[in-house]
Amino acid sequence: MTHRLYLVDSHLFENECTILSCQKVQEGFDVTVDETVFFPNKGGQPCDTGALGDVRVLDVREDGEELVLRTDGPLPVGMKVLGRIDEARRLDIMEQHTGEHLLSWCAYRLFDAVNVGFHCALSYATLDLDKPLTGEQVAQMETMANDYARRNLPVTAVIYDSEDDLKDVPLRKHTEGLTAPIRVVTIQNADSCTCCAPHVHSTGEIGAIKIVSAVAYKGGTRMTFLCGGRALSCFQRLQITVDAIARKFSTAGEEVLAAVERQETELKELKKEKAALTTRLEEYLTQELKAQAEDVKGRKLLVRMTDTDPKRLRPLALATLPEKGLTLLLTEKGSQLTYVLCCNGLKLDMGELIPAVNLALSGKGGGRGTLAQGSAPTPAGLPETMEQLKTYLRQRLAN
Ligand SMILES: [Zn+2]
Repeated sequence: MTHRLYLVDSHLFENECTILSCQKVQEGFDVTVDETVFFPNKGGQPCDTGALGDVRVLDVREDGEELVLRTDGPLPVGMKVLGRIDEARRLDIMEQHTGEHLLSWCAYRLFDAVNVGFHCALSYATLDLDKPLTGEQVAQMETMANDYARRNLPVTAVIYDSEDDLKDVPLRKHTEGLTAPIRVVTIQNADSCTCCAPHVHSTGEIGAIKIVSAVAYKGGTRMTFLCGGRALSCFQRLQITVDAIARKFSTAGEEVLAAVERQETELKELKKEKAALTTRLEEYLTQELKAQAEDVKGRKLLVRMTDTDPKRLRPLALATLPEKGLTLLLTEKGSQLTYVLCCNGLKLDMGELIPAVNLALSGKGGGRGTLAQGSAPTPAGLPETMEQLKTYLRQRLAN
């Protein structure tokens, strides 16, 4: 059984220990020691990492009463070595975990919402509550948690050897299923909660507590939050972004939303104007194209390339159609050709004509009745191909 020093002192970052066993496994070595400061993957949070003598500790897991330290090198059994955890990682995770206790307590006190889940990753942490909360309520609990953090209240851990001893402890969470010894982490004048993990010594160590998102989750709320150093670096990143946007608008950080909203309104107006201008332009373009149609035995034939948007090609082609006639209109965007073949007042089926167009342009397309369309990578020698198509369509019109 490994003696777990982190249970009584969360700020003990190193200790001398004796190697009890060392076994080669595929990913490294599994090592057990007599006593350790290393916390395992447990209670919703990642384990400590660090060093054991000259080798790195990559992972720590529970195996019954034992803690198994996964190292990247072997250690001789019986050897005394210094075990040292990565201090910054331990402090960071403790900031998140004690912050989570405080947030959960505030949710409980304010809204009778119960914590039903906690997950701490290396860049963010989430907290699940059993009740849906409004944005205003989330802000309220965040403010309260920060208020209690600033009071710098002592945080203590006590291990109770029997369930009876716990009777008078006002626990936030129920203890059903837990058997003694039970460890209770208490934030003075605030929260008491069963917990196995290391915590900060006082709430001031948590630093700022920031809820960055709160979404509906399984009938309750899932919050993502950042504490201490994580909250600070998030604020620093956001400030860089907001400042950059503010500079683009030549305004102050607080004014960027108003500036963006003004630009949004302007953009909507410009889109409206553009649509109106496009309509007028297409009217002119239609007239111009109609005038370019050639006469084939009293029928009109129009084969033309335009620079219109591919999405507008079909209505434009249809608008060029005379009482009796046929139009093949093409447009190019990037190196992609789009084409529309349509007719009016003729006994021709575009479904029969389009294969010849596809073949000439090496494209894919289809349709039937009075309309067919297709697309192709722009072929080399397009003007000559269009002349050939014109000849073919002229013949079909004439017959
Ligand atoms: Zn906890």
